[in-house]
Amino acid sequence: MAITKAKNRVILVACPLEGHMTPMIQLGSMLHSKGFSITVAHTEFNSPNPQNHPDFTFLKLPENLAAGTDTSFFNLLPILFAINNNCKDALHNYLDRMMKNQENEGTVACVIYDTLMYFADSVAFELKIPSLIFRNTNAAYLRSLRVNLQLYNEKTDLLPASRLLDPVPGLDPLRFRDLPNPLDVPVPEIVMQFQVNLIETRSSLAYIWNTSDELEDSDLTDLKQHYQQVKFFSIGPFHKMVPPKSTTLLEEDKTCIDWLNKQAENSVVYISLGSLAMMDGKDLIEMAWGLANSKQPFLWVIRPGSIKGSKWIENLPEDFEEKIENRGRIVKWAPQREVLSHKAVGAFWSHCGWNSTLEGICEGLPIICRPIFADQKVNARYLSHVWKMGILLENFSENRETIEKCIRKVMVDEEGKEMRKNALNLKGKLDACVSHGGTSSKSLNDLSDFIHSLTT
Ligand code: UDP
Repeated sequence: MAITKAKNRVILVACPLEGHMTPMIQLGSMLHSKGFSITVAHTEFNSPNPQNHPDFTFLKLPENLAAGTDTSFFNLLPILFAINNNCKDALHNYLDRMMKNQENEGTVACVIYDTLMYFADSVAFELKIPSLIFRNTNAAYLRSLRVNLQLYNEKTDLLPASRLLDPVPGLDPLRFRDLPNPLDVPVPEIVMQFQVNLIETRSSLAYIWNTSDELEDSDLTDLKQHYQQVKFFSIGPFHKMVPPKSTTLLEEDKTCIDWLNKQAENSVVYISLGSLAMMDGKDLIEMAWGLANSKQPFLWVIRPGSIKGSKWIENLPEDFEEKIENRGRIVKWAPQREVLSHKAVGAFWSHCGWNSTLEGICEGLPIICRPIFADQKVNARYLSHVWKMGILLENFSENRETIEKCIRKVMVDEEGKEMRKNALNLKGKLDACVSHGGTSSKSLNDLSDFIHSLTT
């Protein structure tokens, strides 16, 4: 009887946030297609549903958050610190067991951990398992974060607000206000402590990027000089490298697709501010009137709890529904990639999280950029000033007239047509990267060879 040898196994250490879990699962699918067995190590909090991924093994790491811990955006950093402290032992014990049972379970080739799950590096190091870092943000963000932290360390004075629009030396086209921490206010110690972990490679051998060489050639080249000790694999956009499949942690309202089916081609503005961003009640009102007055159809995702001080949309103006005359649809969570690829959608109003940015580019859609924090401001600046397919809503509390004008600019005016042309052009380049022989496909093959080489 032929004895089949167990495959090499890759352990993915996933971060329990929507925008991190999805690309990590996609990375697992890519590596599985290259012949690896996949274990996804994840927290109890926001855990993925194993039944949706029958090809993978799942490992629950208890993060031991105290009962009643606030898991909202406002408590994110303490939670991430707690996970990094509390999940070490469980991962260590599991990997130790796997190492002793490799004949049956497959050789543990490496650990790939999300940048935010840096505890996995020390566990892998203790057990002499090679580790690789998965970055779910782009190269421009890491570059800006490095410079940003360096500037904070060097400078004793805060930046006057009048200089926020000045360019950051060496980071063209970013201005100080586009930085993750714009230097005009002190950064809380906990933020600095956390961010330092995000620019270090520790004992890891490689960075795996959800980006492509075509999209970020100069930023990647710059970073390679700073991180000469690690290999770079740019294999994005991930969602184009795997068969379409829903990986979301939240429940999608698919009825919005029926609604889109009834709308004219390229007529709808799709609005989503991602899984974490929050808004003030007054911003909601301005957005609502801006949308209503623009007279464009819209599909708007408003996550329950994302408007400060309200449960969902109870604070929308009473006459809003009457004013929009069936032109709009509001849902709690949408099947976003399906929505963006729908022919009725003509523009994307986004907070510019990196997944949403890539998803928008890959559908050739002009983007109304309303960044809120972290990498979103960097991504927004690139969309508007490098790739020229976005329009930046600069001030977080834009008023309804500005919003109305902006929507009409993108949906109706010449400027919008030019943005669409640039977006389609960039889409074409990314399509080429992920196709057979494209840079991302080749880089995935290189990554697969590299991981296999770690076991020989
Ligand atoms: N998303 C979704 N439905 C929605 C809104 C968002 O499935 O209604 C998905 C979106 O496709 C993306 C992810 O949630 O993959 C959000 O990730 P991103 O990096 O854009 O932002 P984050 O949520 O991390 O701020």
